[in-house]
Amino acid sequence: MKITLDTTVCSGHARCAAAAPELFRLDDDGYALPFHGEVPDGLEEAARDGERTCPERAITVE
Ligand code: SF4
Repeated sequence: MKITLDTTVCSGHARCAAAAPELFRLDDDGYALPFHGEVPDGLEEAARDGERTCPERAITVE
């Protein structure tokens, strides 16, 4: 399972980090830091939670 986070559409709602702090980190202004890569074992549901919670659809899990 892989995550792609498109920071160009991130609007800094910070919901991803609230839903899955193990995966998603924010910069000092509250925007998501870039994240492209494999989801660590055991965090698949957290990845899906992050994807679902982003109102900008910046997060894709596949
Ligand atoms: S929830 Fe979406 S828009 Fe908000 S910080 Fe995370 S990636 Fe950005």
